[in-house]
Amino acid sequence: MRIVITGGAGFLGSHLVEHFLDRGDSVVALDNFKTGDPKNIAPFKNNKRFAFIRQDVTRYIDVRGRVDAVLHFASPASPVDYARYPIPTLKVGALGTHNALGLSKHKKAIFMLASTSEIYGDPLLSPQREDYWGNVNPIGPRGVYDEAKRFAEAMTMAYHRYHKMPVRIVRIFNTYGPRMRKNDGRAVPNFITQALTGKQITVYGRGRQTRSLCYVSDLVRGIDALLRSNVQAPVNIGNPNELTILAIAETIKRMTGSKSRIVFKPLPIDDPRVRRPNIALASAKLKWRPQIGLEEGLRSTIGYFRRG
Ligand code: UDP
Repeated sequence: MRIVITGGAGFLGSHLVEHFLDRGDSVVALDNFKTGDPKNIAPFKNNKRFAFIRQDVTRYIDVRGRVDAVLHFASPASPVDYARYPIPTLKVGALGTHNALGLSKHKKAIFMLASTSEIYGDPLLSPQREDYWGNVNPIGPRGVYDEAKRFAEAMTMAYHRYHKMPVRIVRIFNTYGPRMRKNDGRAVPNFITQALTGKQITVYGRGRQTRSLCYVSDLVRGIDALLRSNVQAPVNIGNPNELTILAIAETIKRMTGSKSRIVFKPLPIDDPRVRRPNIALASAKLKWRPQIGLEEGLRSTIGYFRRG
């Protein structure tokens, strides 16, 4: 396959680039480096099956030659990033998705949208199933991401229904692993960086809110399985192992052998109180389930942050 990956220099994007190159596919990565990093794709530069185009996908996307699949993964994805770049976040979810769909249609390629558990907002149903419509504040600080992704799902299904295009929608739950940015503001990189540098570990609220952390290699396997399936509707991919944020902070403190103190800071506005994927659909249709436990995944992630 020849695969276009928008956001190819980002955390997930670069893992997907690596995965498909390893499988023998060709990859064209697009990124404007707003939250992506050239360092993430540096190892692939000499691979003949890899090409990179520096581009903002909210502008017309021009890729020469055959394309079999377009994976639209470009977007700020950390609450801190989308608070910093609210308008680019809305634009890449809306205009960027439109352009990536247009490219797919033109090339007769499969389109895959990187959607998100943020679709469910602060969910009133837990675990979240794909048929739950969510509880989202459109005008809060997270609305720029949540509503852009909801729009992107609507646009993807419209292209599927109106243009009869093959589409895939992956609703990605919290994912962690090597190549997350130290300063991206999310819980796992914050806690690891703080623990390794002896700074205070900042738990927001009382740390009773929950998240369910999926290791990146599990996520990539799920995405590959979805791409090769025929499921033209949203599928949750995530690890159902639900933990409180305080428990995650304590685990990281213990695993790094850190003397850092855990301190409590104000809870951000609209911070979801619970989050846990129901993965029955992925399990039935894709025969997929996560395999990497939290400690195993954290060990390799901590190793990556230690190496700097
Ligand atoms: N969080 C925290 N301390 C931090 C960063 C995040 O307690 O230094 C909390 C945050 O309030 C949220 C959870 O950790 O409840 C996960 O936040 P993250 O930014 O990783 O992503 P989210 O799941 O909210 O999109």
